[in-house]
Amino acid sequence: MTWVKQRNPNEPEFVQAVEEVAEVIVPFLQTDAGKAYRDAKILERVTEADRIFMFRVPWMDDQGNYQINRGYRVQMNNAIGPYKGGLRFHPSVNLSVLKFLAFEQVFKNSLTTLPLGGGKGGSDFDPKGKSDDEVMRFCQSFMTELAKHIGAYTDVPAGDIGVGSREIGFLFGQYKRIKDHFMGVLTGKSLQYGGSLIRPEATGYGNVYFSREMLKERGDGLEGKTCVVSGSGNVAQFTVERLIGLGAKVVTLSDSSGFIHDPQGVTAEKLEWVMDLKNYRRGRISEYAREFGCDFFEGEKPWRIGCDLAYPSATQNELDERDAKALLDNGCKGVFEGANMPCMPGAITLFREHRAMFAPGKASNAGGVATSGLEMSQNKLGLTWSRETVDEKLRDIMSDIHDKCVEHGRVDNGYVDYVRGANLAGFLKVADAMLAQGL
Ligand code: GLU
Repeated sequence: MTWVKQRNPNEPEFVQAVEEVAEVIVPFLQTDAGKAYRDAKILERVTEADRIFMFRVPWMDDQGNYQINRGYRVQMNNAIGPYKGGLRFHPSVNLSVLKFLAFEQVFKNSLTTLPLGGGKGGSDFDPKGKSDDEVMRFCQSFMTELAKHIGAYTDVPAGDIGVGSREIGFLFGQYKRIKDHFMGVLTGKSLQYGGSLIRPEATGYGNVYFSREMLKERGDGLEGKTCVVSGSGNVAQFTVERLIGLGAKVVTLSDSSGFIHDPQGVTAEKLEWVMDLKNYRRGRISEYAREFGCDFFEGEKPWRIGCDLAYPSATQNELDERDAKALLDNGCKGVFEGANMPCMPGAITLFREHRAMFAPGKASNAGGVATSGLEMSQNKLGLTWSRETVDEKLRDIMSDIHDKCVEHGRVDNGYVDYVRGANLAGFLKVADAMLAQGL
């Protein structure tokens, strides 16, 4: 696998994501069952993007100053469907981060059971602290270039960190202005113009449904469990909502400035306040501690708080080996990735060695993109499904993904290695399609 590092110098996140998949796939390729994929060099082919666009995004701030950011779209693989994956607007965005996300997306989308290829895009633009007008001007400039490369049957972007319904609205408006037709070219749209019910909730809800399946597999349930959640954005918010709805207790939330510990538990009312704080007032989570009288730990992550279950839902590499040890020492029995690649390789090794439940994001957070797939279906049909219909489909998809992980991931003594299961199942569907379609 040295070729991955050689071909992708200075791209640590991408190399990390490939190595996690290769750890499972390379031994499989050595077996008789893996020979056809090995001969056709499928692993080498899926680690090379179909194409990558990089472009200048000029825009003007409220003071009349010229501003320049860099935009990207990585079209990773369309063997099983049009490129599909979010846009991330965050100062940490670079080619390595987007290639890792696009690579993960290929396998995640394959697991959803829907015909979705993998892609990702974004910019190093930081929406934090910008006015609505500035965000609009940036989105319009970004889409002026992106529109050349996307389409409802070609590449369908959505949101990710820093891209919520406000940004999707501005992006969609500009796409429509340029192309002069109304189509489902983006998902995560608001309900009035083609969005799907449950799409905002889907990543968080999906992760909770997935964890419930994993607990059920061990004869356990969510009722009465103490949970630690990191993040306080879209994924974290709806993870908390579903967890408390299903009888669990959530005691932490975080953002890049630190975490709050609320031993009483986040209630539905407190969560509503957090949603207003984060989605409209765009404030910091430290305000929660002042509002509800609990502790705020500046610059720290919540992993040393005792819990039964942990839901890392902030960003990549937010949980290292020391954090994993602290979680296990304090009684944590399961970790379910709501973010993409939040756990570092050393942490994952420790969870697997301890036979703790560990759900890799490409399986457990696939509910978001799966519901984007359902939004695409509704757009093509010209219909809007009810909340119940979408939620039921989401539950079924998460349960199917779980079953596939079990099928491919059961190892010694009945232990299910979900990393193995997710990577193998995700890889095989894409690999079979690539074999069938030839070089
Ligand atoms: N950004 C989300 C993810 O990481 C959703 C992508 C989508 O809906 O296309 O899966």
